[in-house]
Amino acid sequence: MQRIVIKVGSAVLTQNNNIAKERMLNLVSLIAKVKKKYDVILVTSGAVAAGYSALKLDKRKQIGKKALAAAGQPILMTSYKKKFDIYGIDTAQILLTEDDFDSRKRTKMFQEIIDAHLENDILPIVNENDITSTPEQLFGDNDTLSATVTYATGADLLVILSDIDGYYDKNPSEHKDAKLFKTIDTIPDGALDEESSPGNEFATGGIVTKLKAADFLMKRGGKMFLCNGFDLDSAESYLLNSEHNLGTVFMPKAAASNITPS
Ligand code: ADP
Repeated sequence: MQRIVIKVGSAVLTQNNNIAKERMLNLVSLIAKVKKKYDVILVTSGAVAAGYSALKLDKRKQIGKKALAAAGQPILMTSYKKKFDIYGIDTAQILLTEDDFDSRKRTKMFQEIIDAHLENDILPIVNENDITSTPEQLFGDNDTLSATVTYATGADLLVILSDIDGYYDKNPSEHKDAKLFKTIDTIPDGALDEESSPGNEFATGGIVTKLKAADFLMKRGGKMFLCNGFDLDSAESYLLNSEHNLGTVFMPKAAASNITPS
């Protein structure tokens, strides 16, 4: 079975300082369908927002954010568990930092844990463990983390679900005439150096970290699909029917693919 990593960001998973439960349920229902065709690893944000539902600390302060993440991680996982239970899907929680990939030995250990889960039909749910880590030990955003997880686990595709239909020639929330790129084989010059521009108060990435994730994978012959996580139709068509409607496929020119239709 082919292996895919699905990453969902804060923009999709949070609403009014809380977990967006209906959107989470839609995601879980999509994963339940997709799991019949692919081995799936989920990378999820949302712990800080979930924590904020329990205690009101300032998430812009380092300790506040860490305390919120610590309180929110079990809330987030409980929320997922309730929904995956509906579909009879067992889950595992894996919390990582950049340090977990600092040697071959540790990367191999991570690979073996993921393999053990997937062989036993358990869905691994990954998030960054930023609670007691220093900034130097952290990826800092789940886009970068999910690209590393994709590469380290030999996954065939990273799907990033965000609050936009894909990658545009300019920021679509500021420019009405922004045009969506359907496929990208090289990241445009300078795009990786732009300041990050997260669109949501709990988001840490913005488009730049998504482009960095794509660049990291493309340089290694990998592939990424950036699409809408509010309306999951484009993700579903792409993954289940090999139809590419909306969404941006990032793929190096030379890469042959058996997932993409176009
Ligand atoms: P997430 O929480 O899903 O990681 P972010 O808010 O971090 O999402 O990043 C997505 C946001 O990036 C979009 O909502 C959009 O406002 C912003 N953005 C800036 N430039 C672009 C662009 N060229 N194409 C698409 N989105 C862009």
